[in-house]
Amino acid sequence: MSNRSLYIHVPFCRRKCNYCDFYSSPATPGEVSSYAKALCNQIRNSTARGEKIATVYFGGGTPSLLSQSDFISIVSALRDTFDLSSCAEFTVECNPESVSPSLAEIWRNCGVDRVSMGVQTFCDDQLKTLGRLHTKARAAEAFAELRGAGFQNISLDLMTALPGQREEDVRADLAQMLALSPEHLSVYLLKVEPGSVFGLKGVAEAEEETQRSMYLLAHEALTRAGYEHYEISNFAKPGYRAKHNGVYWAGGEYLAFGPGAFGYCRGKRYHVPADTAEYCRKNGLVSPVVDETVDIEESQKEAIFLGLRLSEGISRSLIPKEKEPFVKTLCKHGFATLTDDRFSLTAEGFLISDYVIRELLPVK
Ligand code: SF4
Repeated sequence: MSNRSLYIHVPFCRRKCNYCDFYSSPATPGEVSSYAKALCNQIRNSTARGEKIATVYFGGGTPSLLSQSDFISIVSALRDTFDLSSCAEFTVECNPESVSPSLAEIWRNCGVDRVSMGVQTFCDDQLKTLGRLHTKARAAEAFAELRGAGFQNISLDLMTALPGQREEDVRADLAQMLALSPEHLSVYLLKVEPGSVFGLKGVAEAEEETQRSMYLLAHEALTRAGYEHYEISNFAKPGYRAKHNGVYWAGGEYLAFGPGAFGYCRGKRYHVPADTAEYCRKNGLVSPVVDETVDIEESQKEAIFLGLRLSEGISRSLIPKEKEPFVKTLCKHGFATLTDDRFSLTAEGFLISDYVIRELLPVK
């Protein structure tokens, strides 16, 4: 797959979830529409006009809060500006409470071929604790609505290590996820971000051992059910790995649209300022902020830390000679595997990936 990808950030949520510190805010329909207008203008003024696009991803926030007419306008702007004829994946993120059969149908008609839905858990009490707006029953209904609209590639998000959660609760969540048989699953351990409601209230993360056992529980249940654990947090049925995220992990380029969106282009990481009011005032024509320039040394580091997130791991040639004994010790204790040309982490190894990456990256 060549060409660049597109990431479109939709910075609205009906209500902030208690664990979340992503850039999003509640919005009136008027604000969403002026954002959509500004977004179309940013897209239509892109300097990458005419380029062939590899993948498209609408993330957020909650893209399912876009009205049907706004979504159609944005996709028209994309089609008028870029060449989507060889787009290999077109994903929209959504939340169960804002999916409907008619919206799902519009998405299908607009060329969306993958939906990623934030379910998080099938326990109604936990959903309340997390500050989610849906119920277990609504999640199952929304999934059926997506299938009913013809989506054959659905990803569900699951969170574990929730406050007070027991292993049997995680087992029950996994069983209910598997009963739906989504093509893809993302499984996250709850992290308490300092800027989130949980962070401000001092909610504690689960003990390390609890996190470890829940992560391995998910790994075992999902791989037993035929899913490939192909990335630290991601599982897919064969043939359904996330292509857009694959661009991120492979160090590929992607263009950013919408306030708060991040992009990577011509060796520069950048973002569109996370200020929706200003974005709308300037009709989408805000200057992006360059966060970092990725030189050869940096891109080699990225190849290590992004590659080690994947089950394929990294080329053995990227391991500094002096680190070979460390790598062999990891293998001996079941944290990693080493072949003639690859080095990769096992599920146990994914749990200590931060430590492994720190050890492997050349110290400045
Ligand atoms: S977790 Fe998702 S739905 Fe909840 S506030 Fe964050 S971006 Fe919005």
